[in-house]
Amino acid sequence: MSAATSRLPGFQRLSPAERIAKLREVGVLHTAQAEGLEAAGAALTGTVDHLVENVIGTLNVPIGIATNLIVDGDEVLVPMATEESSVIAAQCNGARQCRAGGGLQTDTSGTLMIAQVQLSDVPDPVFARAEIIARRGELRDACDEVDPTLKAVGGGMRRVEVRLIDAGAPDGVLLVVHLIVDTKDAMGANTVNAMAETVAPMIAQWSGGRVGLKILSNLADQRLVRVRGTWLLDDIGGPEVRDGMLRTSRFAAADPYRATTHNKGIMNGVSAVLLATGNDTRAVEAGAHAYAARDGQYTALSRWEADGDGNLVGVLEMPLAVGIVGGATQAHPTAKTSLSIMGIRSADHLTRIAGAVGLVQNFAALKALATEGIQRGHMKLHAKNMAMMAGTSEAEVDAVVEAMLEDGHVRVDVAKRILEKLRG
Ligand code: NAD
Repeated sequence: MSAATSRLPGFQRLSPAERIAKLREVGVLHTAQAEGLEAAGAALTGTVDHLVENVIGTLNVPIGIATNLIVDGDEVLVPMATEESSVIAAQCNGARQCRAGGGLQTDTSGTLMIAQVQLSDVPDPVFARAEIIARRGELRDACDEVDPTLKAVGGGMRRVEVRLIDAGAPDGVLLVVHLIVDTKDAMGANTVNAMAETVAPMIAQWSGGRVGLKILSNLADQRLVRVRGTWLLDDIGGPEVRDGMLRTSRFAAADPYRATTHNKGIMNGVSAVLLATGNDTRAVEAGAHAYAARDGQYTALSRWEADGDGNLVGVLEMPLAVGIVGGATQAHPTAKTSLSIMGIRSADHLTRIAGAVGLVQNFAALKALATEGIQRGHMKLHAKNMAMMAGTSEAEVDAVVEAMLEDGHVRVDVAKRILEKLRG
């Protein structure tokens, strides 16, 4: 299903039931899915029992719909699961300002994952490397036998790389074999782990070494997404705003302390899409941050510049290993609904949308930092959280939030004081 439009003015003012009705109206939800979303609060225990051990319930993280996004010419409504206030509002705003510039354009490097087989005590590592490369056909056949389903959908083992790493004393030179596997619509962790375990004894025999680890690498640098977006100068508030944003992004490029928070902002968007679709947020987070440090210094995952017409252009490049089969992606009903709302056709397609969301989040954070400061945007939602923590009821919450913002101190003790006064 793809949306008739991702432009839903006034969506934020609807009740949850009305928003679901709206999604049905634009054709991204059918009746059973709508009912499933409404019932999710209570109904999930039982459905998710088999996903993890010792289930006693479910934690309902809110899922909101990010509107206004255009990715590679397609209108897309994006479910985002996050507990962090302001992430979804920022997404809607950032994507709206990018529409006149044509939305986001994406590119991917393929769906290749890496499994590592580690060997130590190899008598002649250089000879062993040549032997392993020469026998790569045997490795490919053995790997592909592990997963005939993957082979049938066009995936499977693609390449072998052999690295020699001097680990120093006491381990000496390690011989590390990378199995490069196209895992297609699967994230592929279990798939490539099984392959690595299968071929490890063969590699040990050929090299005369001792097998250590046999597991995927989360530094998925052969599964990259590149996203580019243009924000027209008039849509973002003119040259002063643009130049402030460029300064902010250059700071992130130069300083790891700033880059970490810059990249965290990107992951606010990416991880929320991953969580909503049952994907492994930790795997992608680990890969993203490692990639940000690939040249020896941790830096920003995105770059910003002005184009010839003075418009603001952002480019994000990061590893993004996701699946639409395997893991929880098909086992969790809400994850399936999220995939369906976006009309996801393949893991590659989901990668592009998650990456686009990451760049838009980055835009929104940079703009807030370069203009009003991040705190003001956060404050209202933060005040609401503080008011709820102070024990405010739904009927009282608006009055408490307003009084707290007027007071200028948004804290739980201030909320309590205001509440006491309000109740006389
Ligand atoms: P999986 O093993 O559950 O499913 C993948 C399988 O689906 C493939 O092997 C293939 O046989 C089958 N399949 C059917 N149609 C396919 C298609 N069109 N394309 C590709 N495969 C298709 O899942 P997985 O993706 O191998 O593993 C993901 C899970 O592993 C996640 O839950 C993740 O959290 C977990 N995990 C992660 C790590 C890590 O990141 N370090 C380590 C271990 C496990």
